[in-house]
Amino acid sequence: MAPSPALRCCKRTLNWIPVLFINLVVGWSYYAYVVELCVYTITDNVERISYLIIFHIFLAIFIWSYWKTIWSKPASPSIAFALPRAEKELFEKEERAEMQQEILKRAARNLPVYTRTAGGAIRYCTYCQVIKPDRCHHCSTCEMCVLKMDHHCPWVNNCVGFSNYKFFVLFLAYASLYCAVICATVIQYFIKFWTKEHAETPAKFHILFLFFVAALFFISIMSLFSYHLWLVGKNRTTIEAFRAPVFANGPDKNGFSLGFRRNMAEVFGDRAKYCFFPVFSSQGDGHSFVTRLVHIDPEQAKGVLQQNGKIPANGETSLSVPPSEATSKEKTDGDQIVAVTVDSEP
Ligand SMILES: [Zn+2]
Ligand SMILES: [Zn+2]
Repeated sequence: MAPSPALRCCKRTLNWIPVLFINLVVGWSYYAYVVELCVYTITDNVERISYLIIFHIFLAIFIWSYWKTIWSKPASPSIAFALPRAEKELFEKEERAEMQQEILKRAARNLPVYTRTAGGAIRYCTYCQVIKPDRCHHCSTCEMCVLKMDHHCPWVNNCVGFSNYKFFVLFLAYASLYCAVICATVIQYFIKFWTKEHAETPAKFHILFLFFVAALFFISIMSLFSYHLWLVGKNRTTIEAFRAPVFANGPDKNGFSLGFRRNMAEVFGDRAKYCFFPVFSSQGDGHSFVTRLVHIDPEQAKGVLQQNGKIPANGETSLSVPPSEATSKEKTDGDQIVAVTVDSEP
């Protein structure tokens, strides 16, 4: 049973609590740094002004990327991925799963859809009534299908996906830098207060806590940032890191990887001047992705698959290829595309 509108409204409001928490921490850090440290504690004017300038530059770019991550609407599949009216009626009337699959296969024939369910079926969202584009997943919190969905992030109360993944990675980077700047500039006053070298003032409490909180956030955000940078380098989403995308011939965790440089460009764009700012510069449209999937001669494909350890020497290229996490070697480093999957669709 669907939740009542009042319950949904209540849930939507509660979802903002983590964002409110982050805002309160950032607000307090601003007060502690600007007022308690720079105004009341630092006596040297040159030091005070240079700290304030550096602090505000990092705060501004951190808030900018956080804002863009929160307010970028998740991108959903275009109308081209919805079933045509007649097909939809047929699909809804049909009770046999295999016949429903036939309808979906017919509809997906002209769509750039190469990934399948674990059972080899066309991926279809019954909630949104669309054929899911590659890397698209349904988010139960946002109640919609999200293109290149990475995960639903409670700290930004938004889905992280094609439309804001770059902003999210930059938000992690600049949040880490913001914490690093605070730690690096506060540490000398932290030591002075800690060793009682500096006279006790009401600022002591704020400065001690500011250092602890910034250091704690720095460690946790930095580890998350490193993980996402690794994912970008491998061209995987968080979902794909846990469950390899399934292609026509089986799962391939490196199915979208095109080599480190091109993987980075897919998220950050290829123009250096936009890479470091939270402006949209990701490549593609979110519906189709360059894959290592190439239409090649089945015999040649079998050779490549054997080379990659995806099938035994006498094996068949079929849907029954098992996920071979350990043996599916990255072959695309240095931007050399190697086919590892074969399209078995007619
Ligand atoms: Zn959906
Ligand atoms: Zn979501």
